[in-house]
Amino acid sequence: MEKCKADNLLKVTNTVKTEPREELLRLILNSDAPVTASDLHSMVKDKGTDLATVYRALKVFTEKGLVRTVHAEGSQVFYEKSCEHNPPHPHFFCESCGKLECMKPYGFDESALFMRLAKDRDVRSVELVIKGRCTVCTG
Ligand SMILES: [Zn+2]
Ligand SMILES: [Zn+2]
Ligand SMILES: [Zn+2]
Repeated sequence: MEKCKADNLLKVTNTVKTEPREELLRLILNSDAPVTASDLHSMVKDKGTDLATVYRALKVFTEKGLVRTVHAEGSQVFYEKSCEHNPPHPHFFCESCGKLECMKPYGFDESALFMRLAKDRDVRSVELVIKGRCTVCTG
């Protein structure tokens, strides 16, 4: 499957395109791991993009279904791409080092299972977070 392009996703979802938004979405699409707003901010602040802009962009991306949120601990939120290349899957959150990992293998069968569990309800988002200590912290 061909990789998604940020400018194209903004266009097909009728999202107002700005330079910071395109850059932020590109960073999320290129990241294999979920990122936080402060992760993203540290990657774009050299270009003069402030944290408030990052938060606003993430809010818009979430509303447009371009990214999905994963709630870890307290108010900490991670974001990851929610395009066809990244169907819903469980995450593992390490309570010791704070790392959030995507649980693989993930595929359409797995996300279809979540949808089946919800039966005829209108599903907006799926979130499953397993918590504990990661292999680094237990080893
Ligand atoms: Zn994609
Ligand atoms: Zn850990
Ligand atoms: Zn993930």
